[in-house]
Amino acid sequence: MGRYIMALDQGTTSSRTILFDRHGNIVCQASKEFMQIFPKAGWVEHNPEEIWMTQLGTMQEVMKQAQIDGSDIVAIGITNQRETTVVWDKETGKPVYNAIVWQCRRTSEIIDKLVKDGYGETIRNKTGLVPDAYFSGTKIQWILNHVEGAREKAEKGQLLFGTIDTWLMWKLSGGKIHATDYTNASRTMIYNIHELKWDEELLKMLDIPKLMLPEVMASGGMFGYTTTDIVGAKIPISGVAGDQQAALFGQCCFDKGDVKNTYGTGCFLLMNTGKNPVQSKNGLITTIAASTNQVEYALEGSVFVAGAAIQWLRDQMRLVNKAPESEEIARQVEDTGDVYVVPAFTGMGAPYWKQNARGMVVGLTRGSTREHFVRATLESLAYQTYDVLKVMEQDAGVSINKIKVDGGASGNNLLMQFQADISGTEVIRSSVIETTGLGAAYLAGLTVGYWSSKEDIIKNNRVQHVFVPQMDKLEVENRLKGWRRAVRCALLYAEEE
Ligand code: ADP
Repeated sequence: MGRYIMALDQGTTSSRTILFDRHGNIVCQASKEFMQIFPKAGWVEHNPEEIWMTQLGTMQEVMKQAQIDGSDIVAIGITNQRETTVVWDKETGKPVYNAIVWQCRRTSEIIDKLVKDGYGETIRNKTGLVPDAYFSGTKIQWILNHVEGAREKAEKGQLLFGTIDTWLMWKLSGGKIHATDYTNASRTMIYNIHELKWDEELLKMLDIPKLMLPEVMASGGMFGYTTTDIVGAKIPISGVAGDQQAALFGQCCFDKGDVKNTYGTGCFLLMNTGKNPVQSKNGLITTIAASTNQVEYALEGSVFVAGAAIQWLRDQMRLVNKAPESEEIARQVEDTGDVYVVPAFTGMGAPYWKQNARGMVVGLTRGSTREHFVRATLESLAYQTYDVLKVMEQDAGVSINKIKVDGGASGNNLLMQFQADISGTEVIRSSVIETTGLGAAYLAGLTVGYWSSKEDIIKNNRVQHVFVPQMDKLEVENRLKGWRRAVRCALLYAEEE
């Protein structure tokens, strides 16, 4: 039996391959960036062939670095940027159009029309999603309507649709596998997350032929095998999950009520809600969580601008040279001197949902300094996370007392301590920060018996640091009061012409 699990982590800006050993340690990794294509304002595309070539390239690089051959790889797990849509020809294997990326807003008018026509509730109830151009459904429709001859071919069963996991599996298997997993299917806006099937009514609504859709399987399952020419042996592909669900699994959030938050460009908070899907009253999304047997659900909330606010400090405000420097600068002051920054650069998400809100800085005095400003921007990541946590607690009817964290900005100790203080929760940072790849590896490894059980995996889960709430309750309340006032200013600004 081979020694490693190979995780393919196909992200929005790069393709990565990571080898994990039995202890969940990273043995070797490689990544390659690929081109971001912006044909028009608000449009984002990737070249599916480039996605495949960069992924394959990193697989080969990792094998070379680790000096292993195909027999050393027990199984492959895949995790991917979610919602991004590829349509290709079943015979030739050629994509009929570039991949339309999750960020792409080209179909927002289709969504406006669906909502106007009264489909909003149906979409919410069946898919757990808030109708949005972000999800795959309207992207598939766009390709069928805009690529010459695509619709006729799709109706004859000559075209295939896939999210990136599906596209990669099809390539890895030489066209034998056309499948996806529950977590990726649950982001398409055409999958019924309660009945676990492609939904006829939604397919009709978007005019998408069912023939082009992949088979949907549990995240931990035998999807099929790679061809021998990929890594020199037939390797089982036995775990697949969208990136955020993979991270939830990689963080060992296996129990109902477990929460993780990823601090990247944005923040993604997910709570495992167990066997029952929880319908949010506050604009969170209900989605399927990765699991190896029975279907489990998660509540998901996102903060649009998190690490991006630190990039803004660096690139636009030029107040820091590098993102981690924000910590040193913020430490030079005890607090923000009552300055609050609301980085609503692209509107405000849960629980406010104000698209036309914009950024706000309040509380400035003659004594406000660069340090206060940097600290206030950093703290805004924690306040925004707090806001989503609170609605998650309300929706799920549980109180959250710990959050597992990962992502680039989770390396900031000041921010993590402030998060613990403000939300009154323990903030737990694990030693492996590649939780997305780890989640895919765990799913793949559990399926083939490389790990015998979740307990086996939990033993691997080494905590690097736990931040415990320390701030006085009254102080917390005061600061939150200030944050709420600042948010009210941003909302008010959105109202006034
Ligand atoms: P993504 O996967 O979204 O590209 P990453 O998980 O790589 O994001 O995290 C990068 C983001 O985190 C950037 O937006 C960066 O500004 C921010 N970041 C990285 N390190 C720090 C830090 N020490 N303090 C604050 N923000 C940071």
